[in-house]
Amino acid sequence: MTRPHILLVEDETHIAQGLLYNLELEGFQVTHVETGAAALEAFSRRPFDLVVLDLMLPDSHGIDLCHEMRQVAPKLPILMLTALGGEQDRISGLKAGADDYLTKPFSLDELLLRVRGMLRRSAWYQPEYNREEVYSFGGNRIDLKNLQATTAHGEIRLTELEGRMLATFFVNEGETLTRAELLKSAWGMAADTETRTLDNFIVRLRRYFEANPARPQHFLTVRGRGYRFVRQPGRTT
Ligand code: CA
Repeated sequence: MTRPHILLVEDETHIAQGLLYNLELEGFQVTHVETGAAALEAFSRRPFDLVVLDLMLPDSHGIDLCHEMRQVAPKLPILMLTALGGEQDRISGLKAGADDYLTKPFSLDELLLRVRGMLRRSAWYQPEYNREEVYSFGGNRIDLKNLQATTAHGEIRLTELEGRMLATFFVNEGETLTRAELLKSAWGMAADTETRTLDNFIVRLRRYFEANPARPQHFLTVRGRGYRFVRQPGRTT
């Protein structure tokens, strides 16, 4: 396997230098840019295996950038770096298609752990999609391979993370999955992602795929335990 190539978008010199040095030490190739314009330019020139994206850039907002990259590369793992306490930023980042985020200041070890985990998952989870590439339920048609869905609310482009969560639900149809199991299967080793992040994702899946998101028929809450996916309501055991 060739060395994974990471695009590092970070304008704070001391953070960028530390990350660059350590990512290269870990054996990654790194392209470092300091602005949104330079990031898009690098992005249009060659494919990357992962993007580490700072939220606040001198010429643009990481969320817009994330959005643009997602349009071009729906499966690309994107790790967003956000400011302390910016919960709204984190939610917006996940909405824009980031797979995970780290809050500044973060430990270098944690960042490397997340990067390795994301790269591993993006390789690991490919075969999962071959089980049933197009999955239908409740009037929705989900193409896991191409990360596209046709729903009552229109056409939706899924993120890699949403694809992994859906694949996990589909494979375990009818079974209760604990929060820990869902976090582990979707986010991998770094199951320390806040449970609220998971709950936000469930809210999103319901908004996409439920006729009435307030009264879900497919993505059910199992009180005190986790969530359960039901393909055909009323025909469950
Ligand atoms: Ca910044």
